[in-house]
Amino acid sequence: MTMLQALRSFPKEVLPASATVDFLHFVVCNKPAVRVRVQQAIGLTKLATWCEQYSFAFQVDDEGYVCVARDIHLANMILSVDRSLEPHESRLGKLLGYPACCCNFVSVIGEANIDTIAAEVATWLFVGRFRLINPSGYLDGKSLICHLPCSAKCLASLRIAEQALSFIQANHDEAIISPWLFWLKTNLD
Ligand SMILES: [Zn+2]
Repeated sequence: MTMLQALRSFPKEVLPASATVDFLHFVVCNKPAVRVRVQQAIGLTKLATWCEQYSFAFQVDDEGYVCVARDIHLANMILSVDRSLEPHESRLGKLLGYPACCCNFVSVIGEANIDTIAAEVATWLFVGRFRLINPSGYLDGKSLICHLPCSAKCLASLRIAEQALSFIQANHDEAIISPWLFWLKTNLD
């Protein structure tokens, strides 16, 4: 199965841990594109090779921001929106496949305050199934979503998280899936 092969050969060792969450969504959950900063040349080379192997579009700018997408137009558009000096949180988020409600939430507060938002979201109480949308494991590559949810009860985020979880469940014996295995034992009542 190509999807699994793509994940198995994903060069996660040369990328930030959070990138595995983004790429899981890209390969498995129909996320249209991933934007990631790659600091080392080896990371760029390996990611570009991986993209070529699976016919994903790959684009990189001068500052090492990479966009991987299903087609090159989207990849170029994302990098150019990202460079624009106008406020662009909402537009960028939508291009990256985040729910509209969550994009609006971030844009109201402003991307400059994204760390403050992340700190606040980390204090929210996620109850029952909504535990699945707690993004706090993202930097360690363990969350089920790769964006900040607009609330602790965001249904659009839950739908994405459940899609990732069902893939994790079905492929729990794959090595690449191991960071997410604890979710299968998480109490969601
Ligand atoms: Zn939302």
